[in-house]
Amino acid sequence: MTVIPHNRCWITNEDRAAVDAAMASGWIAPGPRVAALEQAFTAMLGGGAACAVSSGTAALFLALRGMGVGAGDQVAVPTYACSALLNAVAMAGAEARLVDVRPDTFTIDPALVPVQAPAARTVIAVHTYGATAEVAALKAQGLAVIEDCCQSLGGPQGRLGDAAVFSFYATKVVTGGHGGLVWSPDGAVAERTRDYVNFDGREDWTPRFNLQLTDIQAAMVVSQMSRLEENRRRRHALRATYLDAFPAGLAVQAGLDTADILPYRFVLLAEGGRRDRMAEAFAAAGIRTIVPIARFELLHRYLGMDPAAYPVAEDLADRTLSLPFFPALSDAEAGAVRAILTREIP
Ligand SMILES: *Cc1c(COP(=O)(O)O)cnc(C)c1O
Repeated sequence: MTVIPHNRCWITNEDRAAVDAAMASGWIAPGPRVAALEQAFTAMLGGGAACAVSSGTAALFLALRGMGVGAGDQVAVPTYACSALLNAVAMAGAEARLVDVRPDTFTIDPALVPVQAPAARTVIAVHTYGATAEVAALKAQGLAVIEDCCQSLGGPQGRLGDAAVFSFYATKVVTGGHGGLVWSPDGAVAERTRDYVNFDGREDWTPRFNLQLTDIQAAMVVSQMSRLEENRRRRHALRATYLDAFPAGLAVQAGLDTADILPYRFVLLAEGGRRDRMAEAFAAAGIRTIVPIARFELLHRYLGMDPAAYPVAEDLADRTLSLPFFPALSDAEAGAVRAILTREIP
């Protein structure tokens, strides 16, 4: 039985040639290809400044730091998110305050921020699986907003808040194996990031850290960025294929339908044991699915907080299933996924 993975990297001959050219140039440390990557982001986001770094988590930490967040500060964070957010806030010396999410888009619920994070002055707004978080509603509360675009590269997000972070990890929209980037509209946060990661040969000394990207990684990411439109079109086509076969009584994450969005995942919601029965049916056909965030991974559970305060996130952990959904998925593979969907597992 051939296995269809939940994710497979989309690496073309052009990507390989770009990496090979970096190696053949004799310059593999941060250099012209990292600069080209940063330029690709300022071009895509219409100005501002960008600083490429070693990961999305590093980018989150550096954006917090660059915005002056540190000891004694509280940061509002959606509880339905990966632990990288907690790690970055802890590295910055600040404290995370967890907020429940919306049941339709899975993004932070702005109405709950004053209730669950009343003392926070900064918020990390994750554009979950490509769906846009309500940044304007957060800004209207006087909050400084870091947009977490680690799952929303190529969409309309990034220009809405005070800084934006991106990830180039292997499973993300574009990849260099690992990597990340900080972007800010007025440039200040990105420049503070650059000052922090460029630790060597400085005239002054203050604690800095090596969180840089290599030119090999940047070469691959830049090459992948040139296919963003194709990436977006392929994901919308796959989404249409799955929705066309969608069984009655199931829901799908909202906020991913418009053409400007780049849908990062296809996550369905099924009641009760139906989710698990569907996962079993996919597994029996050699199709790998995942529960994108399981109960134990919810950030309020890591912090030992009362689950009753986070009913939406708890419900999402129980009902969600993520299907294979990536540009390198072939039509035949997508057809196999669709065939299980049409089976209408009760
Ligand atoms: C992947 C991801 C991160 C962390 O990025 P890394 O490059 O893996 O460190 C942070 N936030 C979100 C929403 C992510 O999806």
